Amino acid sequence: MEVVIKKFIFASILASLLIPSVVAQEVNVYSGRQEALIKPLLDKFSERTGIEVNLVTGGSDALISRLQSEGDLSPADIIIMADAGRLVRAEQLGLTQAVTDEALIQTVPEAFKADNNHWIALTKRARPIMYRKGDVSPDAISTLAELGTDAWKNEVCIRSSSNIYNQSMTASLILLQGEEATLAWSKALVGNFARSPKGGDRDQIKAVVAGECKLAVANTYYLGGMLTSADEETRAIAEQVGVIWPDQDTTGTHINISGAAITKYAQNTDEAQALLAFMLEADSQQWYAQVNHEYPLLDGVEWSKELQSFGTFKAQDVDFEKMGAMNGEALRLMDKAGWR
Ligand code: FE
Repeated sequence: MEVVIKKFIFASILASLLIPSVVAQEVNVYSGRQEALIKPLLDKFSERTGIEVNLVTGGSDALISRLQSEGDLSPADIIIMADAGRLVRAEQLGLTQAVTDEALIQTVPEAFKADNNHWIALTKRARPIMYRKGDVSPDAISTLAELGTDAWKNEVCIRSSSNIYNQSMTASLILLQGEEATLAWSKALVGNFARSPKGGDRDQIKAVVAGECKLAVANTYYLGGMLTSADEETRAIAEQVGVIWPDQDTTGTHINISGAAITKYAQNTDEAQALLAFMLEADSQQWYAQVNHEYPLLDGVEWSKELQSFGTFKAQDVDFEKMGAMNGEALRLMDKAGWR
């Protein structure tokens, strides 16, 4: 009798060890995107699925380094960052693994994911030319190539070559027109700089309004963010700025992406894929793109009012994986051209 009871107790203890009663489902996100621009969406996901999302935010490059140094001990399941160049770098560093959910993969258009599905895009961003209304006619320039012509001597503001947005733009030009033409353009552009590159995209936009240069190159979400800023002065500056979409008759305006990857050592791959699928739903796309004035990845999703006011445009048709892989070459070329 005693033996039977002991056996029963032993079996009960064993069972309680084997069947975890309440294990919370979770997914850990490293995000290069600020908390305010992503947290509400993650909360909505948690509410719907019961999957807890732990969010770490930081600079994209810093998060890549962190993943690298944490290695297989990293808690991260997903890394979210801007620019195809960074997504490709993370993949090349061996920090990612393939998305395997077929439905999820099929949602993403071909050019907007890695061939091996190691990353997918979540939004698009565009990098046109900007000017001060009244100061420059909107049809005074229609191509990126013209930024290097004598008409714009000392009139171009653009940030430094250390910035990945310019590296990716240059990489896209190498893909579209070859290295020789891109180097010649890059040299001519540098010759037209109004000042030694400094600051971010917002600073270039402010510089055209301050009259430091007639033209600036910047991503539209910065102008959108300035137009909806809580700061009245910032709004007043942005309202004076117009957008020119270059290369509409040929290759289209440069675009880039923000995207996500599942980390190599992710412990919660099912939850991670569920979250990515959620972020690609139309409602999520609308909120996620609009809150940062980016273009939704999926067609048919409404743009923010500010993006709508800049107009529609023809975008470059470039494979983002190839563009990202061209990053090193672009950087060497910019260096050669004297782009600091
Ligand atoms: Fe940015």
